[in-house]
Amino acid sequence: MKVYFDAVSTTAVNPEVLETYKKLLDEYYCNSDALYDDGVAIYDMQEKSRNLIAKMLGVRKDEIIFTSGASEANSLAIKGLCFAHPERKHLITSIYEHSSVHNSFRQLEEDFGYKVTYLMPDEDGHITADMVAKALRSDTLLVSIMQVNNEIGAINDVEGIARIVKKHPGTYFHTDITQGLGKVDIDLKDVDMASFSAHKIHGLKGSGALVKKQFVELLPLISGGQQEFSLRGGTSNALANTVLAKTMRIAMENKEKYHDQLKALHDHLYEGLSRIATVNYAKGLDTLMNISTPIPSEVLLNALNDKGIMVSSKSTCGSKKNEENRTLKALGLDEDHAIRISFDYTNTMEEADYFLTQLKEILDKYA
Ligand code: PMP
Repeated sequence: MKVYFDAVSTTAVNPEVLETYKKLLDEYYCNSDALYDDGVAIYDMQEKSRNLIAKMLGVRKDEIIFTSGASEANSLAIKGLCFAHPERKHLITSIYEHSSVHNSFRQLEEDFGYKVTYLMPDEDGHITADMVAKALRSDTLLVSIMQVNNEIGAINDVEGIARIVKKHPGTYFHTDITQGLGKVDIDLKDVDMASFSAHKIHGLKGSGALVKKQFVELLPLISGGQQEFSLRGGTSNALANTVLAKTMRIAMENKEKYHDQLKALHDHLYEGLSRIATVNYAKGLDTLMNISTPIPSEVLLNALNDKGIMVSSKSTCGSKKNEENRTLKALGLDEDHAIRISFDYTNTMEEADYFLTQLKEILDKYA
């Protein structure tokens, strides 16, 4: 049996999305900026998708910038804003952001002379509006705090943080909603920028977007032509951009449709895991669990892999680097013995049972 319990890392493409994408690829190959009819047809499809995405998120059509995913959207939001506003040199973020956010801040700090405040989560794993309020300075340009953490599933009140930042003149608020999209609702009213990715919600890899409110000025990181309001050069990935609206619509519909099934799966796994391991964090996303066992994570990962079970020990983007795990360290957890289990509506109770049985066998063998 093969069990994929790594939905936070990526997801399989939804069959409906795949079908549409394949049909489009078969039929359309022209450049979406070409002026002849076939080019215009592709452009129109992309723009229809932009419009639908904007409606789903409650923003304007020209506030959606298509990107290659959340890493690019995060980099564009953070560095693009700093490059457009060189007069303010203080930035605020959390210590447990995704590497695309964290390393953008590190680069600004180390290579461009910015001062960065890295907020530590409280004992519940949250970054709060109060922490942000205390860290704000007269020269703070940007606050970037993720909506849902990708390693423990902590859900932050980013709407509350956005309201605090809104009252602070000259400071912008960005949030990485990659792990929250389609799972945790968000009102983007006071949010200036938000990043997300298609492949976390059963869409295509290499597809995502940055929501950027109209009044926010950015400098492009990819210089080029008129694409994406001149903020992101390069021939548009127009067919991927076209199916992003469908991907999001299906994800939002499935949120309600599979709510009870996912809750049952969560409760079953939680109960089973609590009996044989330590569940490190149970206050966040229902579809993510971080556990600790006496077995070193790498050994456990391999043992599970031998049984056809796919889980992670940390964020996949840093899985081959020997860097410390910022999230677990901040929460005082032992990263060498922790693994992350994440699932979605494609997983079943049978898979959960198989996983629990195999895990118990491995633990018993190593005890
Ligand atoms: N932010 C978060 C919270 C993520 O979990 C990920 C994916 N690991 C990303 C950003 C990067 O997304 P992408 O793969 O689309 O660049």
